[in-house]
Amino acid sequence: MTDIKSLTFPELQEFVLSIEFKKYRASQIARWLYKKLATSFDEMTDISKEGRELLKEKAEIYNLKIVNKEVSKDGTIKYLFELKDGNRIETVFIPERDWNTICVSTQVGCPIGCKFCFTAKDGFTRNLTASEIVDQYISVQRDIGIENRISNVVFMGMGEPLLNFENVRKSIQILTDDRMVGLSTRKITVSTCGIIPGIRKMAKELPKVKLALSLHATDEKTRENLIPLNKKYSIKEIMKELRKYPADNVRRIMIEYLMLEGVNDSLKDAERLANLVRGIPVKINLIPFNPYPGSPFKTPPREKIEAFQKVLWDRGIATFIRDSRGQDISAACGMLRGKEKKVTQ
Ligand code: SAH
Repeated sequence: MTDIKSLTFPELQEFVLSIEFKKYRASQIARWLYKKLATSFDEMTDISKEGRELLKEKAEIYNLKIVNKEVSKDGTIKYLFELKDGNRIETVFIPERDWNTICVSTQVGCPIGCKFCFTAKDGFTRNLTASEIVDQYISVQRDIGIENRISNVVFMGMGEPLLNFENVRKSIQILTDDRMVGLSTRKITVSTCGIIPGIRKMAKELPKVKLALSLHATDEKTRENLIPLNKKYSIKEIMKELRKYPADNVRRIMIEYLMLEGVNDSLKDAERLANLVRGIPVKINLIPFNPYPGSPFKTPPREKIEAFQKVLWDRGIATFIRDSRGQDISAACGMLRGKEKKVTQ
């Protein structure tokens, strides 16, 4: 069975030819799937009944199931989706004044094991397929209505996208192909904890997609304690890689810096951070730690975050405090999934 939403446009053309359809049927099918958000072949009324039967025999339209949904006062919506095999993932819809963003997951769980992360607690189950990534966009767009267009996609949900590179690349091809979803490549951001071979592949294969790096510390020891993978891909090596990154294509690389009280929030850290990014076109986002029940870290007071920010601005580095959205719902990534688990077990 062909998982039709995992096919890029050229692959969809090959598929229709393989079942002896004319080539133009690929455009027709893509329009139904990605513009009209169809959930079944039966909806494709400009294809004959026999044609639709043949499609059903050879391919499957695989739809995520919404099992829970939390709506925040600020309009943020958190979805819990169930996959075909019963696994569950989260997707977040974040409305801004002038655009709408969704934050998608790329894996069930995550193998990295960051000490501050709620998703890490459950370990790693499997990679998502391209269609499971794309369908997060389709399902949310269908749920909020086509008039509320999603324009931006950030790969910052559960999982490490660069450890699932092939499927992430395919999903981005589907999301940015005008004959399919048709989003602007520049409005896609892939966030990584610093998988160097993946960063190299991004530079080569997805040069117009924005890159975000979860840095979170300014010295190797502290980062190693927070993100064990720093032993393999150190700050020093990652920064060397970013210096080579073709950043003119994406304008600026985004550096994400989680603020953890007493761990990485000193003014000395701010100075070291400024030195680390010197010469790299970056934008820094300071992310106040999002606490969850039993979390071992605290969020620094606002004044401390602002003082940290000022050190960076004084050195000419664009630095923003990224206020958490959806504070009144299960805000930290993975919490909705965790909550649901407790209920069902
Ligand atoms: N694995 C990728 C993408 C998923 S995590 C990465 O590491 O970038 C997305 C972002 O959320 C990362 O910057 C991650 O460090 C951050 N994050 C994880 N837990 C958090 C928490 N409790 N509060 C705030 N940010 C958190």
